[in-house]
Amino acid sequence: MAVPKRKVTRSRRDKRRSHHALKAVNLVECPNCGETKLPHHLCKSCGQYREREVLEGAEGV
Ligand SMILES: [Zn+2]
Repeated sequence: MAVPKRKVTRSRRDKRRSHHALKAVNLVECPNCGETKLPHHLCKSCGQYREREVLEGAEGV
C-alpha cells in the first residue's frame, strides 16, 4: 500500500482546506409570485418558469 513519506504539517493541511468552505446558495425572487427560488429553476410555489410557462398542476399553492 502506498504510504505518505512525510507528515503533512498543520500549515500545509490548513492551506489545502482554505478552499473547502461552503458558500451560501444564491436566491432570486420569482417574478410571478415573489417567492424566493433558485436562479434558472422552476418556481416551486407557483409552478412557473420564464413567465407563463406553466409546468406543474401546482397553481397558487
Ligand atoms: Zn413563483
